[in-house]
Amino acid sequence: MKSSAQAVVIGGGVVGASVLYHLAKIGWQDVLLLEKSELTAGSTWHAAGGMHTFNGEANISKLQKYTIDLYREIEALSGQSCGLHPNGGLMLAATPGELDSLKLICSRARYLGMETEMISLEEAQRLNPLIDTSFFIGALWRADGGHCDPSGTTHAYVKAARQLGASVERFTRVLALTPRRDGTWDVVTDKGTVHAEHVVNCAGLWAREIGRLVGIDLPVLAMEHHYLVTEDIPELKGREREIVNTTDYAGEIYMRQERAGALIGTYEPHGVVWAPVKTPDDFSMQLLPEDFERLAPYFEVGFQHFPALGRAGIKKAINGPFTFAPDGNPLVGPVRGLENFWVACAVMAGFSQGGGIGLVLSRWMAEGDPGQDILSMDVSRFGAFATPKYTSIKVPENYSRRFRLAYPNEELPAARPVRRSPIHDRLKAAGAVMGANFGLEHALWFAPPGVARAETPTYRRSEAFPHVGEECRAVRSAVGIYETTNYGKYEVTGRGARGWLDRVFASRIPPPGRLRLAPMLNRAGRIVGDLTITSLADDRYLIFGSGFAEEFHLRWFWASDIPADVFVRSAASTLTGFSIAGPRSRELLQRLVRLDLSGGGFRLFQVAETSVGFAPVILMRSGFTGELGYEVWTTPDYFATLHDDLLEAGRDLGLTHFGGRALSSLRLEKGYGSFNKDFRPDYTPGETGLDRYVDFDKPDFVGRAAALAERAAGPKRRFVVLELPDADTEAVGYESIIKAGAAVGYVTSAAYGHCIRKSLAAGYVPAALARDGESFQIDVFGEPRAAIARLRALYDPEGLRLRG
Ligand SMILES: Cc1cc2nc3c(=O)[nH]c(=O)nc-3n(C[C@H](O)[C@H](O)[C@H](O)COP(=O)(O)OP(=O)(O)OC[C@H]3O[C@@H](n4cnc5c(N)ncnc54)[C@H](O)[C@@H]3O)c2cc1C
Repeated sequence: MKSSAQAVVIGGGVVGASVLYHLAKIGWQDVLLLEKSELTAGSTWHAAGGMHTFNGEANISKLQKYTIDLYREIEALSGQSCGLHPNGGLMLAATPGELDSLKLICSRARYLGMETEMISLEEAQRLNPLIDTSFFIGALWRADGGHCDPSGTTHAYVKAARQLGASVERFTRVLALTPRRDGTWDVVTDKGTVHAEHVVNCAGLWAREIGRLVGIDLPVLAMEHHYLVTEDIPELKGREREIVNTTDYAGEIYMRQERAGALIGTYEPHGVVWAPVKTPDDFSMQLLPEDFERLAPYFEVGFQHFPALGRAGIKKAINGPFTFAPDGNPLVGPVRGLENFWVACAVMAGFSQGGGIGLVLSRWMAEGDPGQDILSMDVSRFGAFATPKYTSIKVPENYSRRFRLAYPNEELPAARPVRRSPIHDRLKAAGAVMGANFGLEHALWFAPPGVARAETPTYRRSEAFPHVGEECRAVRSAVGIYETTNYGKYEVTGRGARGWLDRVFASRIPPPGRLRLAPMLNRAGRIVGDLTITSLADDRYLIFGSGFAEEFHLRWFWASDIPADVFVRSAASTLTGFSIAGPRSRELLQRLVRLDLSGGGFRLFQVAETSVGFAPVILMRSGFTGELGYEVWTTPDYFATLHDDLLEAGRDLGLTHFGGRALSSLRLEKGYGSFNKDFRPDYTPGETGLDRYVDFDKPDFVGRAAALAERAAGPKRRFVVLELPDADTEAVGYESIIKAGAAVGYVTSAAYGHCIRKSLAAGYVPAALARDGESFQIDVFGEPRAAIARLRALYDPEGLRLRG
C-alpha cells in the first residue's frame, strides 16, 4: 500500500467509488480508496438499484439527472456494464393532494429540461399492466430513470477511476485518523499508515463510526428495509419492453420488473432502526432476518394495488440496512473545525445521487467550492441540535414518510420541541402554531381564540389563510410583534474585526451606531449570505442572517482566515429578539425608552445600546416588513420581561403577534428576497439586486473580481416579483416560469399578498425580459396562470412607510 496520497476515500460503496472517480477525473492522480472488505460490502450490494430524478429540491433533481446520465460515460471508460434498464418511471396518485403533487413535479421538470407528463390511467396501465387503476385517480410518467445493477455500477466507477490513475486497497480497515499540525492526516489502517492531504468519509453504514474517530457525532442512522422478488408473472410474458418502474404513493410501495417477475418494496410506517448505537465491525455482505409478520400488512396493500404480484410466489426476500440523515437528504461537504476532512454519507439513494455527490464534492475539494448551490445536502444544515437522540427520533419519522407528500403547510412532529425560547409557552398560549428551524421552535401563525390550530395538510390555501391575513393587516395598519430569536446571530469582536469583516463582506462596513445590509460572496462572486452587520463599536459587531444557515455561515467565517485579534462566535443561544413593526411601532417603543425615537432622533439603520422597560437591549431601526419598524435584542434572562413590557405598552395601540407566514407575505409585497429561498449560491449580486449593497470601490473583498466582471457584462437574469392576477391559490416553489411556450426560470418563493390582495411569486427571469409589466405564465398545479413582472415593490414603492 502506498504511504501517502492527496486524498484517501474511506469506503468502497457506490458513493466512495463515485467520489474516487470524480477526484481522478478532476485531475487528482494520487487518490486512494480504502475498503475494509470487498467493494460494495456495506449497503450497496443488496440495493434494488432503482434510479430516478425526482426530488423536492431542484438542484438535487439536477444532480440526480447528472448521475443517471453519467452511467453511459463510466461504462464506456471502464468497459464494465452498469446493467442499465432505462425504462423510465410512473408515479401514481390516489388522492387530490397526491395529484397536486404530481402536477407540481411536472411544472418543475419543465424548467429542469426533464421529459415528464401527466398521463391517463389507461396510458399508465399500458406502461405497467400490473396496476389496478381503480385505486388511483392520476398518473405521471417521466422518461428519466429505471434501474441499474448496484455491483456493476460500483465496479464501473472504480475501474474508470483506476483508468485515470486512482488506486484501491480492499481488505484494508481504517482504524484511526490523526490530524497533523499542517492540516493533513495520518490515516492509520490495519495494513499501515497513509499520510493524506484530505480524508473523505464515505463509510456508509459506518459513517457514524468514522465520524467518531475525529470526535464528531454525524446525524446519520441506519434503518432496516425490505423488498421482495416474485416468481415469474404470466402477465409479463411476451412483452417486448419491461414495464415502467412504478411508485405508488398511497400504498407506500415501489415496484419494477425483475427478469420475468417483479420486485416490490415498501417504506412501512413503523420502521426499525438498525444498529442504533454502533455498527458492528464485522458486518459485511450480510442481510438481516426477514420480518414478514411485521411487513405483511404493507405488502398486502401492494398486492391489492398490483394484484398479479399477490398471485405470484415469492422467490426472494431481502432485508438490508441503509443510512439516512434526519431529513433524508445526504450529508456532503467539509465539517467546521476539521481541516481537510470531508463527508459524503447518509446517502439513501446512492444510485440516483452518488454521481452528483461525487461531482460537487470533487469540485469542492479541488476548487474550494462545490460549483453550485447544494444547501439542501450540505452537512452544515445540521448543527449542535442534531444530537444522537434527535437523529434517533427524526430518522424513523423520515423513513415512515418516504412516500408521503411533504405539504408546504405541514410541520413534522417528531423530536419537538428541541430548542425553545423563553417565551415559547406564552406564544403557544397566545395561539401560536409552531414550526422548527434549526431545531428552534418559532411561531408560524396565530390561531385566534376558538379557532383550531390543526391545519389540513394541503398545497392549496389552508385554514390559516384568513388569520395570516389578519396578522398582515394588523402590521400594516397598527403594530405587530414578531419573535426574531430564530435568526442566525454572530458576534465578531477584537481589534482586527473591522478589517476582517471588510475582506469577508462585499459591502461597506457600517460605522459604530449603524447597521447595513451586507452581501457575502464566494470567490466565484455568488451569494453565500445576505446578512445585516450591526456596528456597536469599532471592535464590536453583531451580524444577523438566516437561522437555517447558522452552521453554514459559521463554517464560512471559520474558513475565512480569522486573524488572532478577531473573535467570532455564534450568538444563537445568547441573544433573543423581537421585531416591532407598523405605523404605531414608534409610539409603542417610545413609551418604554428614554432615547428620542422621533424621525431625526433615531433614523433608519441606526443602532443603540439602551434599555426597553426593564431590559438592557440593542435597539435597531430596521425590519423586513417594509413598515416603520425596530428590532430589539436582549439576553434570554430578560426576554420574558421584555415581552411583558412590550405587550403592556402596546395594548391600546392594537399590538398583534404575527408569525413567519405573515412575514413571508409582507416581505414579498415589498419585493424583498430571502436567503435559502430566493438568494442562494447559484445567484450573483447583479441577478439578486444585492449589487446595490456591494462596495465595488473597496480594493479587496472575497468575490470582487467576479462581481466586477458581472457588473461590466451585466447580469444574465434578474430576480423579479410576479403578480398572478387570476390565481386562486399560490405557487409552492420551483414551478416553471414560462414565456412564449418555453420555461425561462422557476419560482423561488410565493405567498399571497394580503394587504395588496394579490397572489405573488418570486423568481429569476432572463435579464432582457425583466421589464415592469412583462407577462409570463406560471404552471400552478397544471393550470397555466398569467404572471406579470413587477419591478417596483407592489406595496409602498417609494419606501415612505419604512422611512416613517
Ligand atoms: C434493501 C435496500 C434496497 C435499496 N434500494 C435502493 C434503490 O433501489 N436505489 C438506490 O439508489 N438506493 C437503494 N438503496 C440504498 C443504497 O444501498 C445506498 O444509498 C448506498 O448503498 C449507499 O452507499 P454508500 O457508499 O454510501 O455506503 P455503503 O454501501 O454502506 O459503503 C460503505 C463502505 O465503507 C466501508 N467501510 C466502512 N468502514 C470502513 C473502515 N473503517 N475502513 C475501510 N472501509 C470501511 C464498508 O465496508 C462499505 O463497503 C437500498 C438499500 C437497501 C438496504
